[in-house]
Amino acid sequence: MAANKNTYKVLFACSELTPWIKTGGLADVCGSLPHALHRAGSDVRVVLPGYDSVLRQIESPIFISQLDLPLGPVALCRTTLKDIDVLLVTHPCFSNRTGNPYMSDDDRAWADNPFRFALFSQAIDEIAVNQARLDWQPDIVHCNDWQTGLAPALLTLRAQRPATVFTVHNLAYQGNIMQNAYETLKLPTELFHDNGLEFWGQASYIKGGLAYADRVNTVSAGYADEIKTEQFGCGMDGLLRSRSDRVSGILNGIDMDDWNPETDTHLAANFSFNTINLKAVNKEELQKAMGLPIDPDVPVFGVISRLAEQKGIDVIIEAIASLREDYFQLAVLGSGETHLQVQLLTLEKELPQKVAVRIGFSEPFSRLVEAGADVFLMPSRYEPCGLNQMYSLRYGTLPMVTNVGGLADTVFDSDSDAGKANGFVIQGATGPHLESGMRRAIAAFTDKPAWRNLQKNGMTQNFSWDASAQSYLALYQAAIDDVQTLGKQLQPQ
Ligand code: ADP
Repeated sequence: MAANKNTYKVLFACSELTPWIKTGGLADVCGSLPHALHRAGSDVRVVLPGYDSVLRQIESPIFISQLDLPLGPVALCRTTLKDIDVLLVTHPCFSNRTGNPYMSDDDRAWADNPFRFALFSQAIDEIAVNQARLDWQPDIVHCNDWQTGLAPALLTLRAQRPATVFTVHNLAYQGNIMQNAYETLKLPTELFHDNGLEFWGQASYIKGGLAYADRVNTVSAGYADEIKTEQFGCGMDGLLRSRSDRVSGILNGIDMDDWNPETDTHLAANFSFNTINLKAVNKEELQKAMGLPIDPDVPVFGVISRLAEQKGIDVIIEAIASLREDYFQLAVLGSGETHLQVQLLTLEKELPQKVAVRIGFSEPFSRLVEAGADVFLMPSRYEPCGLNQMYSLRYGTLPMVTNVGGLADTVFDSDSDAGKANGFVIQGATGPHLESGMRRAIAAFTDKPAWRNLQKNGMTQNFSWDASAQSYLALYQAAIDDVQTLGKQLQPQ
């Protein structure tokens, strides 16, 4: 795509941000896309809740202003992350809690999430119309997922406003609340109707983005098509079909510097395709760390995942149960739903020579799994984009994926064109499909030249943000054109 010469002032709103706070791929995208937009010439400012855990990692956040929002006052602070300004919305509701920003350790959503993310959206709305003493008027407000979904809706109530873009990273997480909770928060009644936030009698935060943003996009072309169908639409497919001329897909990139096996400081040995033999050092280290027998010849399957139904963890458990006698090892790093943790740990007990499980969230250890495994399993039921298959490709670890969403857009089966094939694709998220896929990989692992070719294709792919950043710039311009058509554009400063 030709470089877009336009540059924009972008307020980029998100609820997690690598390297400060991460529960999944959202953080990595929000930690890298703004930098790519900045490199392309735009003035990007990220706005994030000022979680205590984030504030503790920042040397001296600068107080900017107090925002007197309908839900109460917040303090807006500023810091920088590499070359980008980050605005932090601080309030006691973002103070320290065990667990993650959305859930407790025992996997229950925080009861005050509706308040926390309505407050955050009110802050985004206020900054978006230059009411935060920043003397800065964005052209675009780019919101991400349900935690920011109310902001595009609130902005439509302004006489003049910037254009809005809403990116869906996962449609299944919707931030739906009871109508009386919506009323208790005294959120605007004029937004509560079936073409607005109302969703089967509830109020849906994500629907604020889907219904009100000038442009909606998701993180792969495949998922953009899928979410307009009943099977993947999570009840929003009708709305998305009705707005299909405003809904598109832009494939996520990855931070090619951060996820680079040649420089990753968490590895036992750095390597590139030219020094691929050194990957074996990481495999040995992984086997050691996981308490698995050290064996360079056994194919090691790796998993790094939220333990959730989406990710097909139950499918892995079912497939392994049928593969007890086969020659392989499985190394799992994950956290999430308790029943999946228990089942994985049971499997580990039953097959201690083959299966090793580490429950928890560990960025450093995830790097070793990426580098040390031979095959990376992602039998997802749906996958908006998926980052791990791209990280795996970069680390010479062949992904085995279902043919959905962004997985289908990035992984090409070993049976396809030899110049393109880079992994294994299975045709469904079921135990038998995965079992036969794993058997195929176990057999393929003995053919070293063919395996090297698959690794080479993956390791030489370019997943950088540059092309996708250009697509976002084009999307911003389309959103700005939409607002101008509405006649609600802000006066140039
Ligand atoms: P999702 O965002 O749906 O969880 P993605 O594949 O897009 O899935 O991104 C997941 C990101 O979170 C990857 O960077 C992955 O390495 C990381 N991750 C997931 N679980 C863990 C874990 N237990 N420990 C460390 N990193 C994890």
